Amino acid sequence: MFHLTPLVGSAIKNPPALQHVLGLRSNDGQGIISLEHRSIVRTATRPEKSGGGARTGFFPATRARTGGRSTCGLQKGRSTFRTPAGSWAVQPHYQLATAFRAEWGSPGGWAAPRPLHLGFLCEYDALPGIGHACGHNLIAEVGAAAALGMKGALESLAGLPLPVKVIVLGTPAEEDGGGKIDLIEAGAFKNLDVVFMAHPSQENAAYLPDVAEHDVTVKYYGKASHAAAYPWEGLNALDAAVLAYNNLSVLRQQLKPTWRVHGIIKNGGVKPNIIPSYSELIYYFRAPSMKELPVLTKKAEDCFRAAALATGCTVEINGGAHDYYNVLPNKSLWKAYVENGKKLGIDFISEDAMFSGPSGSTDFGNVSFVVPGIHPYFYIGSNALNHTEQYTEAAGSQEAQFYTLRTAKALAMTALDVIFKPELLERIREDFRLKLEEEKF
Ligand SMILES: [Zn+2]
Ligand SMILES: [Zn+2]
Repeated sequence: MFHLTPLVGSAIKNPPALQHVLGLRSNDGQGIISLEHRSIVRTATRPEKSGGGARTGFFPATRARTGGRSTCGLQKGRSTFRTPAGSWAVQPHYQLATAFRAEWGSPGGWAAPRPLHLGFLCEYDALPGIGHACGHNLIAEVGAAAALGMKGALESLAGLPLPVKVIVLGTPAEEDGGGKIDLIEAGAFKNLDVVFMAHPSQENAAYLPDVAEHDVTVKYYGKASHAAAYPWEGLNALDAAVLAYNNLSVLRQQLKPTWRVHGIIKNGGVKPNIIPSYSELIYYFRAPSMKELPVLTKKAEDCFRAAALATGCTVEINGGAHDYYNVLPNKSLWKAYVENGKKLGIDFISEDAMFSGPSGSTDFGNVSFVVPGIHPYFYIGSNALNHTEQYTEAAGSQEAQFYTLRTAKALAMTALDVIFKPELLERIREDFRLKLEEEKF
């Protein structure tokens, strides 16, 4: 039996200056841990200064992203706290200005030469105008809480079957840009064995089939002319945009029910008496797999080109910096998570509902193609829908804290299973290999 209370800090803008105590208690000495929940509100603690490159303190003072559409949920000067042991090696601005990496390693193991690398992802991207309407402040809290819980649990044990490294990655810009993809390309996920993250929702689902996504910006170049005096001299770029919009609307009848096409006309001219010489559209295309996504993209791009031909305009189609991949399920991982979650009283939706549930897209999909991982969804005490002002309020409420920390515990317990049940890790790796083979594109 052991009992530990690692300090879990939430230095997140919304709710402000919360800190929690996460109590973990083993019930069988095998790392299968049942946890008690309690949370308290305190004043935020400032970190101690340290001289070295890596420093103590869990969150670095992360800079808010400026100039872009996304905002960072961590505030400079307030986004720091420390663990009692103070032994996290933190790299602020890790590979990206608003990313960070924190590492803690267990003192050693019995046999294996290489530590098992377990990663916890802290997403903290907000939405323009409506703040944390996707609840990513709570994702950051789940990742930090689970990692601190893990550290506390592992420190309290006399020996581990193998050395363990706990890695916390601050991964910005999920809502626009895909920070995790930049981090993958920079090698941040290299050597990680399993990664954990959880996303707020209206229900508890161990998995939801988040789909692959490709976005395009389409620009039409025409020719301006006086719209009344000599319109025949012009080439109407707005007409091209309208035709493209309608071509895609007509195409919908031939799209699979699982495909999604949605877009806006961002620029449609300047003044009614000038034939518009320029127009611009932004479209997102989504399909259940990376194999299907190019099929949909090709059909859509033909619609854009047809509109250019019909109006005599020229067209430029630019894909976004990154495609988001669909999220690969890892059955062994989500089964273990459900088992642990149920012990904490989490009421999960059925397996059928899980695989037919509503979904968006996330850059965790790309992560799931390089490392076995889990990205469950969790209820936060409100039926408000993501990307609404009501959800911003719910994500910042005290009520959400119970559900958030309970999810962190379920993730931490699952990570402990990975350490203490070698056959589970083998199954997770095998599931990953098979899914990857299936989804090869
Ligand atoms: Zn989200
Ligand atoms: Zn979102």
